[in-house]
Formats: sequence, structure tokens, C-alpha cells
Amino acid sequence: MTFEYAPAPESRAVVDIAPSYGLFIDGEFADAAGGKVFKTVSPANEEVLSEVAQAGSEDVDRAVKAARKAFEKWSALPGAERAKYLFRIARLIQERSRELAVLESLDNGKPIRESRDSDLPLVAAHFFYYAGWADKLGHAGYGADPKPLGVAGQVIPWNFPLLMLAWKIAPALACGNTVVLKPAETTPLSALFFADICRQAGLPKGVVNILTGDGSTGAELVAHPDVNKVAFTGSTEVGKAIARTVAGTDKKLTLELGGKAANIVFDDAPIDQAVEGIVNGIFFNQGHVCCAGSRLLVQESVQDELLDALKRRMSTLRVGDPLDKNTDIGAINSAEQLARIKALADAGESEGAERWAPACELPDAGYWFAPTLFTGVTQAHRIAQEEIFGPVLSVLTFRTPEEAVAKANNTPYGLSAGVWTEKGSRILWMANQLRAGIVWSNTFNKFDPASPFGGYKESGFGREGGRHGLEAYLDV
Ligand code: NAD
Ligand code: MG
Repeated sequence: MTFEYAPAPESRAVVDIAPSYGLFIDGEFADAAGGKVFKTVSPANEEVLSEVAQAGSEDVDRAVKAARKAFEKWSALPGAERAKYLFRIARLIQERSRELAVLESLDNGKPIRESRDSDLPLVAAHFFYYAGWADKLGHAGYGADPKPLGVAGQVIPWNFPLLMLAWKIAPALACGNTVVLKPAETTPLSALFFADICRQAGLPKGVVNILTGDGSTGAELVAHPDVNKVAFTGSTEVGKAIARTVAGTDKKLTLELGGKAANIVFDDAPIDQAVEGIVNGIFFNQGHVCCAGSRLLVQESVQDELLDALKRRMSTLRVGDPLDKNTDIGAINSAEQLARIKALADAGESEGAERWAPACELPDAGYWFAPTLFTGVTQAHRIAQEEIFGPVLSVLTFRTPEEAVAKANNTPYGLSAGVWTEKGSRILWMANQLRAGIVWSNTFNKFDPASPFGGYKESGFGREGGRHGLEAYLDV
């Protein structure tokens, strides 16, 4: 039985979006030198939310110069003083969290339940966590007085716009670096609101600069000769291009790229709990998650029972208005991403896997994709190898733990994995065998600022979060 829910939309009156925004350079908003702009839309209904500046090479240069100038004083501040600014930013994020959650759901399409209960609390937590490190860097294991690198050029994706900003900016500032950050072209707004928070916090000019623009802006930024550190999260393809740009320079680089995580369910797992973990693993944030559990590996003996329960659960997922508090699955972030998901799902069908989706009505306007499951998937299928980055789960089976490990590791990626079993010894054995930066056991998609996150192989290198996350921003 599916319950009928009355609409429960969050009010958009809590956020005041200006018709246009400039670039945030040296503490001021200014138009791009070339005068170019582009629009950002709500993917739920294609409504234009605002117009933002498209930064060109002149703007990138101006922002890097502002960051370089600010670096002198910022890096010379005692850690305890830098911490005060970061704590202030963290508190302002908490104070403005309802506004920022609505903004994020509007620009990105993610359900308000997630932006409110997951993104925003994690964003604030990340700033609180690294604020705490700023005056303790000498005790982090990187020497008695570790030095910052200088100017960090940071490029982030659209799936967790403000959270990826926090992952990049909080450790950079705590260590004494200054930053130039480029948000993704489909989700620029929360970074611009963050610029306002920096002003509210009295952060010295030039310590944080925000450049909106597309991939060409990102390419200019990472290639700028006066950038000392490059941090990128996004596709493996662009990650490789950036690695080529940075090769042969003395820039320090961290890459957080794609994934094709295996969520592995053994026959002794608590099935109902596993079903919740599978749903959370692949349908959280429409599956726009680099560590999404996009391959379900289920032990053959419990396949039927598990798939029955999973299909029942999927039939209760509510797809629709991101601002409705009852919504489980929001809009796909862009027309381009929707086209990619459709193409890969079609490939799944044409290569012989069996497609299933619950009956669900999708809105007419905007970009939507129903939660989808493929069974009969083999390891050679594209949907078992390529990152779909959407609400699509590929189901494979195994008989022995060794087979589960071999299949789980049979991917160019290595970001995350999940293991569902009652046996503690098996969890530890599996965690040792799996080539993945994060292994969750009897849970999935759990994040904490104190816990390092990052990949193996084509999922990238370097760690974000925790003490490990400091290393990327220190001269060690
Ligand atoms: P993308 O890698 O093209 O974009 C990510 C960011 O990089 C954006 O800010 C973009 O403007 C910038 N960028 C693009 N080209 C650049 C270049 N040459 N130099 C510097 N910066 C550049 O990702 P996308 O096109 O939005 O998504 C494509 C696929 O990437 C998705 O289907 C998904 O598989 C994957 N992806 C992964 C993550 C992740 O978190 N690991 C995030 C987003 C997308
Ligand atoms: Mg948008």
C-alpha cells in the first residue's frame, strides 16, 4: 500500500535570489571583464533563477592576484586567529541554513529533506571541524610548524555544490592558504551566497574568491602559473586533463573523481536493513554521488528475497518537487546529465540486461528519471563498468566471498564499497581485499568531517576530511 501525501512544500520566500550576480574577487562583486553572462535554472521546472558572470582569463588573473596578495597576511596570522573566522563562518552557515538549503534545492534539484538534513549540517560541521585544527597544525603529524602552500585553485562539481565547497575551502583556510574557487556552471548560486557569508564574517578581502564560469574558466584557473595547489572534484575525464596540465609544474594536486561502488550483500545480512542501505546507496541525491552504491552484488541464495523486498521499497519512493518535504527523489541536475543517464540505461537494455522501474508519474517540465533497476547484468555490460551518475542500480550475483571481491574490484574505479553481513570477521577480511578508499559495513553513504574520503585507481588520489585532509594544503 502506498500512502497519499498532501503536498508539503518548503517556502521559497526564505531565500532572496538576485536577478544577476558578478564574480567575487578581492571582497567585491564585479562583472566579468569580458561582460559575458550565463543563466542558471531550476532543473525541476527549467525556470531561470538568475544570471551569473562567465569569468575569462583576465578575471582568473585578477582573482589569483587578489588571493596572492591576501596570502601574505592570512598565512602570517596565528592559527587561533584564523580559527575565529572559520568558527564565525560555520555559525553563519548554521544561522542561514534554511535559506541555503532552499537555495541548494532550487539550483540543484535535490530534495529539501536532503539539503536540509544532510548537506547543510555537513557543511557547517566541516567548517567547525577544520576551525578546530587551525591552531593545532603543529600536532597533526606534519612537523612542528607546517607551512601552507599559497594560492589554491579549486574546481568543484554540481552534485553537492555547497558541501564540495566546504570540503575544499575549510581545510585550505585552516592551513593558511587563500583560494580561488570555481563552482559548477549548473549550480553556481550557493557559492555566491557563501561569498556573502565571507563578507558577513569579516573575512579579509581576497582570502576567498569565487569565479563562476564553465569548463574553460576551470581550465584557465588550474593552468594559472601563480596557483600553487589544485584541487578538483568531478569526472575522471576532466581529472585526467587537469593532471596533464599540472604535470611538470610544482603545483600540488588532489583529484576526487568518479566511482562504481559495489554494495555487497551476503546471505546472512539483515535483509530489511540492507534494502534501506541499497536504496540510500543509489537513490540518495538522485544517484548523483561519486561514491554511490551503483552495483549491487547479492549472494545468489538470497537474490529473490532481496529483490522482492527492494522492488517493494522502490515502489514507495516519491519522485517530484524538490521543495516538497515528502520528496525522496528530486530532479536530475541538467538536460545533459539526463541524456547521459538515458543513453546508458538504453545501453543496458540493448546489451541484454532486464530493466525494471516502479510505476511513477514524472512531472512534464524539468529533468526527471524514475528509480531504475537492472537485473541479469554481467561484468562486461556498460552499466556494470561505466559511472551512470543517476538513479540506476545494476544487480549482479555471486556465490563465494572470493567471487564477490573479484567482481567488486573489477572496475577502473576504487572510491567506495559496502558490505552487508552479520559476521565481523568477514567484514574485516572483505575490507582488506576491496580496493576502495572507503568501505562501509552494514550501512552506506555515511559521512563525517573527521573521516578521510578519497579513492584508488581512476577514482583519484589524495584525501579530503580528517587529519589526512590537512596534508593536501600543507607543504609537506
Ligand atoms: P565535469 O568533470 O565536466 O565538471 C566538473 C567541474 O569541472 C565543473 O565545475 C566544470 O566546469 C569543470 N571543468 C570542466 N572541464 C574542465 C577543464 N578542462 N578544466 C578544469 N575544469 C573543468 O563533470 P560533468 O560534465 O558535470 O559530469 C560528467 C560526469 O562526471 C558525470 O556523469 C559523472 O559521471 C561525473 N561526475 C563525477 C563527480 C564526482 O563527484 N566524482 C561529480 C560530477 C560529475
Ligand atoms: Mg541550476
